[in-house]
Amino acid sequence: FVHQLADESVGLDELLESPLHLAPEPSLPLPPDLYGAERRNSAGVDLTVPSLRATLEEALAQTTVPAIALADPAQVPAAVDRSLAAGEGWSRVPVAERAAALRRAADAMEADLPRLCALLVKEGFKAWGDSVAEVREAVDFLRYYALQAERLLQPVTLPGPTGESNELRLTARGAWVCISPWNFPLAIFTGQVAAALVTGNSVLAKPAEQTPAVAAEAVRLLHAAGVPRDALQLLHGPGETVGAALVAEPRIAGVVFTGSTQVAKVIQRALAAKDGPIVPLIAETGGINAMLVDSTALPEQVVDAVVQSAFRSAGQRCSALRLLCVHEAIADGVIAMVQGAARELVTGDPAEWRTDVGPVIDDEAFANLQRHLQRLQREAKPLLPPSEFDPRTRMVPPQAFEVTAVDQVKHEIFGPVLHIARWRGDPQATIHAINRIGYGLTLGIQTRIDSRAEALAREARIGNVYVNRNMIGAVVGVQPFGGEGMSGTGPKAGGPHYLTRFCAEQTVTVNT
Ligand code: GLU
Repeated sequence: FVHQLADESVGLDELLESPLHLAPEPSLPLPPDLYGAERRNSAGVDLTVPSLRATLEEALAQTTVPAIALADPAQVPAAVDRSLAAGEGWSRVPVAERAAALRRAADAMEADLPRLCALLVKEGFKAWGDSVAEVREAVDFLRYYALQAERLLQPVTLPGPTGESNELRLTARGAWVCISPWNFPLAIFTGQVAAALVTGNSVLAKPAEQTPAVAAEAVRLLHAAGVPRDALQLLHGPGETVGAALVAEPRIAGVVFTGSTQVAKVIQRALAAKDGPIVPLIAETGGINAMLVDSTALPEQVVDAVVQSAFRSAGQRCSALRLLCVHEAIADGVIAMVQGAARELVTGDPAEWRTDVGPVIDDEAFANLQRHLQRLQREAKPLLPPSEFDPRTRMVPPQAFEVTAVDQVKHEIFGPVLHIARWRGDPQATIHAINRIGYGLTLGIQTRIDSRAEALAREARIGNVYVNRNMIGAVVGVQPFGGEGMSGTGPKAGGPHYLTRFCAEQTVTVNT
């Protein structure tokens, strides 16, 4: 042990000062206290596991995914007319009333949890555990932003000379375009829209083409909760046509986008190319997320965190672990345990309760993954049985490859694919190599040396750093989420500063 530490250039002082951590309980898709005693959410849905399972299976049998009409890009100017007109009135509704509308929508979503989960399974191909977590996240966004808006949107009186009053106010900007992804079709959609609405803006929402029905349900609940119809309009269709027409519209006040880095840049260029106001973009994009494991880390804890972070949601999270950097002294043991744990995961139909890893979202995603995996079979060392690539199921069981260096992973791969690199020497050098990849969304650090975790986190140019746990599933209000560099423009969804990005600020000085 001491030899391994010496190899990583840890001083004895550093070691003595640092208390050792104990491994936390492994996290489960549903909290363990839900097994057993009755527990209901505020809408009366019994969340104990056997009861929830029966309720969800019944909802699945009863839910069909409705066909959704696409918008024509030619409809965009008229939609913006209506949005601006509705926004005038909505921005003057007191913030407490806008917040109350969000809270009513949250209650309705909570009551509708089984049906929304069924839609997430059927339209988004999400496993049950992920669907339940997603509905909860959407509800959290609504309640959290309601609370934050009431807190933030109060005018602030500033000190000034006698005979003068100064006040700072946050005001609505106008019509926001919200472009959301298919991987969190309810939570991210709801979070974007709720943030824009509660700050008094109107919204033109363009959800991912793959998951329009989930978005339509969220909008139906928000309208029923009191958001005026024209203040929240949905325009379904491809990003290249409907999305592009919305972004190009001269009168929009801002764009909030979650998706690929490449598309964020297309939007940024399109906004910059327009005459008139400088339009803000809030972008949350992808990541080549790494986990750095040193030789003091607890292998069982590491493996639990790796399996959840790399393979849950079939790896289709922008926060997912792509690159495990493990110290060479413990690499063989960790790799063997990852192989064992990954083989235990059930890949299959998301409608089945036992499924851990569902299919990837569509044919294009499947083909991209297939190409990447075929290249890795040639260029890296496969650590798990190869996938069979049946395009009818689009299922890819967890895959892992050993690569020779951190910089061998150059592109974000959106699927259950883990790359593993061994490292030795100074962990700071590995963090610098991770920084050089250029993304900055999530980072895992596994070490029992506190001072090292702190030093590495400080060195990392990365938005969300998770020490000694998994690196997915940021909780609203607890782990504000968002990246830097190629991973986004920085604002943290579910954080205390997010709403300010949707507002203009006005200082009013009165000579009294
Ligand atoms: N917020 C999610 C998480 O922490 C990821 C969001 C995304 O994939 O866009 O896992």
